Amino acid sequence: MEKPNFYDFNLSSLSDFLVEGGHKKFRAQQLFRWVYGLRVTDPESMTNLSKEFRKDIPLLFDFILPKKTSELVSEDTTRKYLFDMGGGLSVETVLIPSKGRYTLCVSSEVGCNLACKFCFTGKQKLLKRLSVSEIVGQYLQVRDSLPEDIRISNIVFMGMGEPLDNCQAVFPAIDIFHDSWGINLSRKKITVSTSGLVDRIPKIINSGTRLAVSLNGSNDQVRSGIMPINKKWNIEKLMGACQEHYRQSKDRITFEYVLLSGVTDSLEHAKELHRITRSVPSKINIIPFNEHPQSDYKRPSESQIDRFQKEMMRLGSHVLRRKTMGRDIYAACGQLNSLAKDHPGKMSVL
Ligand code: SAH
Ligand code: SF4
Repeated sequence: MEKPNFYDFNLSSLSDFLVEGGHKKFRAQQLFRWVYGLRVTDPESMTNLSKEFRKDIPLLFDFILPKKTSELVSEDTTRKYLFDMGGGLSVETVLIPSKGRYTLCVSSEVGCNLACKFCFTGKQKLLKRLSVSEIVGQYLQVRDSLPEDIRISNIVFMGMGEPLDNCQAVFPAIDIFHDSWGINLSRKKITVSTSGLVDRIPKIINSGTRLAVSLNGSNDQVRSGIMPINKKWNIEKLMGACQEHYRQSKDRITFEYVLLSGVTDSLEHAKELHRITRSVPSKINIIPFNEHPQSDYKRPSESQIDRFQKEMMRLGSHVLRRKTMGRDIYAACGQLNSLAKDHPGKMSVL
């Protein structure tokens, strides 16, 4: 019989699994501590476990992580990793350095069915929802490959895929990232970005993590034109869910807003964007469009980006321009895609 993969369990499902097998419940915490805290998977080295239990471990689980197949380093030191997810499928994970801190951008799916028109991942239909071990595995493999003095302090679900389309794996993975016996990151250091699956936003509220929303359009007509999900959940419904998140968490929300030349970047759009977001304590991250091989859009000129940002500031919005990181290795927002044929290792767009 096939054994379960240890990395697919959060602490509570591991406890249940062990108890069902006649083992003590506290073994789950001990195993978490060894595997996540100390990165030890050889049972012989788990010295505080009884001899009998140590013998059982290899019979109970496999310890399988996704294989890292390539690693690219950008001129700005952003790193992009490619992971093999079996069956010829792969995902990308990006490590972004900023002021001595490191943020890991993880993927939740291979491809994405939400088909946002500007997004390279969205050009690839959904091929697979990742498992818990494939999500947590991206973090562990990157962490294990880094020098001791580099600590990943933040995790953002902003890689390939829509996290709320894969709740069954994303939320147990968040449990492992947060659990003090596991990876032990504060919930506030974990951000889930969604294109707006409104009925599932309460799951983000319950998980205690931060919410980022890909808004990208300042009215329903524009947004529906570039993000098909808006036809199901329009801006009003989306804002209602954001307000509820704020009411319960008291955390400011991040709105991501991609600037597409001639589509979302006028001063009129800036005014609308300010109007619709001011009902929620939030910050707005403007992301100038990043090109990819299947781009139908253009990045606005630097002066237009600047005008847009200044207009938002004049109106009183808290607006930041997201620094484009890793564009030369194709690791910037919306540039992730795992189809090798469309995937140049390096592109001269800097
Ligand atoms: N599916 C989730 C998580 C992915 S986050 C979501 O959409 O929120 C990816 C972010 O990059 C989103 O905010 C998206 O709006 C942005 N993005 C997508 N394509 C882009 C592109 N070509 N240039 C700049 N940003 C892009
Ligand atoms: Fe999917 Fe997000 Fe890309 Fe839209 S922006 S296609 S939801 S990954």
